[in-house]
Amino acid sequence: MQMYINGQWQDAHDGDQIEVINPATEAVLDTVPNACSVDVDKAVASSKLAFQQWRKTVVPSRSLLLHGMARKLEQHKEQLAQQLTLEQGKTLFESHCEIEWSVECIDYYAELIKNGIGRVLPPIHESAFNFVLKEPYGVTACITPFNYPLLLLFWKIAPALAAGNTVIIKPSEKTPLTTLMLADRVFDDFPSGVINIITGLGEKMGDALTCHPDVPTIAFTGSSRTGTRIAQKTAGMVKNLHLELGGKDAAVVAPDADIALAARAFGSSSIWNAGQICTSTERIYVPQQHYPLFIEQLLAVYQSINIGPGDNPNSQMGPLCDEQGLKKIDLHVQDAISKGAKVLCGGERSKHLQQGYFYPPTLITNANHSMLCMSEESFGPIVAVMPYQSFEQAIDYVNDSIYGLGACLMSNDAQLIRQFFQNVKAGTIWINDPLPDNVAGPFGGMKQSGTSARELGPEGLESFLETKHVHWEFDPQQRQENWFGGE
Ligand code: NAD
Repeated sequence: MQMYINGQWQDAHDGDQIEVINPATEAVLDTVPNACSVDVDKAVASSKLAFQQWRKTVVPSRSLLLHGMARKLEQHKEQLAQQLTLEQGKTLFESHCEIEWSVECIDYYAELIKNGIGRVLPPIHESAFNFVLKEPYGVTACITPFNYPLLLLFWKIAPALAAGNTVIIKPSEKTPLTTLMLADRVFDDFPSGVINIITGLGEKMGDALTCHPDVPTIAFTGSSRTGTRIAQKTAGMVKNLHLELGGKDAAVVAPDADIALAARAFGSSSIWNAGQICTSTERIYVPQQHYPLFIEQLLAVYQSINIGPGDNPNSQMGPLCDEQGLKKIDLHVQDAISKGAKVLCGGERSKHLQQGYFYPPTLITNANHSMLCMSEESFGPIVAVMPYQSFEQAIDYVNDSIYGLGACLMSNDAQLIRQFFQNVKAGTIWINDPLPDNVAGPFGGMKQSGTSARELGPEGLESFLETKHVHWEFDPQQRQENWFGGE
């Protein structure tokens, strides 16, 4: 496929290409341009020009176009879901969910923008008029990761476009195909240059995009390593930087919890999308007295999972997206074993599947916080479980992490629930149901999981708007007494 700049399909200026691999078969699916800085300049120039008109479009028109985008996404859902599964690995069911959630997000911002933005202030004296304007920044780079290529794209572009910005989408080099398919199926009603898509390796053209002087806003979701690099590279330019980074989400089973239900909930939240979610459950803390039963129940959940290609309707879990992901999990498992952990199931690449990056759900016990699987993001279907002696100790364990994205508690004890959400340092707290997002509620991380900007909700729109305060004096004659000169 080619990339999409200024309403036209294009190759990279230097002709370079990269291959996109089907993770279930390891076969090459397609190639895409590996863009260079010349392509970046072209995309930025196109977005900058388009911004001059797009920023002037009235809100009802933008809202209508966004609703239209959502309808087209629904119309092409089946085709897009197939492609998403082929390049990302997730099951078709998961691909359908991703598209449905994307539609919900677009419709939400298409409506939210109609509420109006900005406000009128109490004037500082009788003849003054003070108000706050909210304005788009301009060209917005939207850089997305491989795990949710569509959802995380729409979390950015829906509010950015609603706010009047133009966008340059830079999908992951591992999963660019579904994003490119949007260009002539879903984005085609937008004026040329309002939405550009540029593909390739971040290492090759990332700096050209993020450090470009005509790109004031960068909305990035990805690893903490890449996010930190972008922050360092752009530090001298004082950009509007949204960084949504990694996580190491913890789950706590309270003493009063239904153990079988907790095992099913956390069993699912640790392996949904093959564990490749920034808010996947990666650590579980269980009261000492319930530990044996919880392990038994979680093991039963994991052993019941059908692993296979995402386009097989019997598959409940697909492969990891790439070999690098497999290697990382292997490293975490081997590190845990070398430090005294036990692996009760999984622990090595799936043997029954000859090809593909399949790794079965893996349950690690005898874990402690010196292990990589308890401290670093694993981003795969592995979970480590530790017993705790007191609820305070469980909260200390949860907070003993450089990350602060999400955390979940299973309990019906109001005192424990309150203690949990008041003391856990994480951007999202779930009680009795890990993972669901609410399109009207802000999503983002504390600590090294991200900057203070949030996606979704009114906060997600605010992130793409600049604030301007206007002070308007109607009667300058009256103000003269404060001014120099005159009589
Ligand atoms: P990644 O950091 O490897 O890549 C993310 C994107 O950044 C890709 O498009 C990549 O091409 C691009 N990139 C790479 N180098 C760049 C550079 N120098 N300049 C600009 N762009 C560059 O991340 P990934 O492996 O694709 O995604 C997985 C990570 O994303 C995990 O750490 C996960 O936790 C995180 N994530 C976070 C959230 C969240 O909301 N906090 C959501 C999903 C995923």
